Amino acid sequence: MDFSLPPEIESYRRRVRAFVAENIRPLESDAANFDDHENIDQEVLGRVRQEVKAAGLWAPQMPRERGGQGLAMVGLAACYEEMGRSIFGPVCFNAAAPDDGNMLLLDKVATEAQKERWLQPIIDGEARSAFVMTEPMPGAGSDPSAMRTTATRRGGGWVIDGHKWFITGAGVARHFILIARTSDDPRKGLTAFLFDAGQPGWEITRRIPIMGPEEHGGHCELKFDGLEIGDENRLMAVGEGLKVTQIRLGRARLTHCMRWLGMAKRALEECFSYVKERQSFGATLAEHEGVQWLLGDAAMQIEIGRLLTMRAAAKLDSGDFARKEVSMAKIAVAEVLHQAVDTAIQLIGARGYSKDTPLEWMYRYARQARLVDGASEIHKMVLSRALLNDGIDFWGWD
Ligand SMILES: Cc1cc2nc3c(=O)[nH]c(=O)nc-3n(C[C@H](O)[C@H](O)[C@H](O)COP(=O)(O)OP(=O)(O)OC[C@H]3O[C@@H](n4cnc5c(N)ncnc54)[C@H](O)[C@@H]3O)c2cc1C
Repeated sequence: MDFSLPPEIESYRRRVRAFVAENIRPLESDAANFDDHENIDQEVLGRVRQEVKAAGLWAPQMPRERGGQGLAMVGLAACYEEMGRSIFGPVCFNAAAPDDGNMLLLDKVATEAQKERWLQPIIDGEARSAFVMTEPMPGAGSDPSAMRTTATRRGGGWVIDGHKWFITGAGVARHFILIARTSDDPRKGLTAFLFDAGQPGWEITRRIPIMGPEEHGGHCELKFDGLEIGDENRLMAVGEGLKVTQIRLGRARLTHCMRWLGMAKRALEECFSYVKERQSFGATLAEHEGVQWLLGDAAMQIEIGRLLTMRAAAKLDSGDFARKEVSMAKIAVAEVLHQAVDTAIQLIGARGYSKDTPLEWMYRYARQARLVDGASEIHKMVLSRALLNDGIDFWGWD
């Protein structure tokens, strides 16, 4: 079994690491570089994105012929982890949620004409995007079969009515991927559509205030009241909305894990110098066994998360859906992120609870990891089903 990265990926990873260290991390220490929602200011972002493009590091997940770098999932795992070592990192490379997951989906399932119209501007950084699925109670959440938003055929197209919420990035998005009900069929009742922010028949009713820092465009509540969508803007076949969702979320969940692992590593980095220098009861913190247990455990958990993520990435690259591998990575890495940040806060003492380091930012951000793209309990349900179905073959080798 070979755990080495191919030389071209390793070289790309090193370039990403250097770029993050030299061009992005220094921006975190100046409050002027933040927007009102604790993310990178849009003007600063525009400047850094130009530098990323000039450095040949732009949109690593997209095909070269569309202006990306053509990396498959294993390459992305190595590079996204490096980007995640800055709280501003992924968005500078056009590798942040939700655009990242939306681009991966459109590249895989859209027609050539749809790619030209809807995908290319996202790749180029000219349009931001959103994925519109979750609804307030009693609509779709963990269980998509509860979906209430409808798409009704009218003439050659569709009319959308309904209510969605927690739609990340909706406040700045131009291109939207929407999941709506087209029939009562339990497996084939949902369909995916594409629409543009400029179309009439929908509105953002509020930007929902959240616990942590926000992606650009926030997390919004949307109302649909007669939005008209042409049939050419239907994504995949009628009734394949659930499939669209599964294709999108499989990859998007894993790229979340990749970025979160970078953030977990960064959190530990934040406490290195303190534990090596701080004296307590005649020794440095790092010389105390209690501290060593905390650090050793956090380091090991990160490595477990990396192995699960890389295994799922390799499976996806081989053409497998990797459902159980992605679920295991998602559950584990969401916990790893939280634990690593918590450990770092604990070890730097009172300062860990201050805003003098990015740790409190990460701590608030980390809590969403157990909810977004499938709550941990749902992923455990998927694993339990696979286990009962596969029996002893649940644990196999490729
Ligand atoms: C920061 C953030 C960003 C988001 N961005 C988007 C987005 O861009 N687009 C979008 O469409 N949605 C988005 N969401 C919504 C997210 O996908 C949903 O919150 C998630 O799918 C859970 O749905 P729900 O909130 O309705 O919770 P529910 O489905 O009501 O579940 C509540 C809780 O019940 C438990 N639970 C539910 N079902 C089961 C079960 N079968 N077994 C055991 N326990 C169970 C879980 O603990 C779960 O957390 C976002 C959410 C957050 C917090």
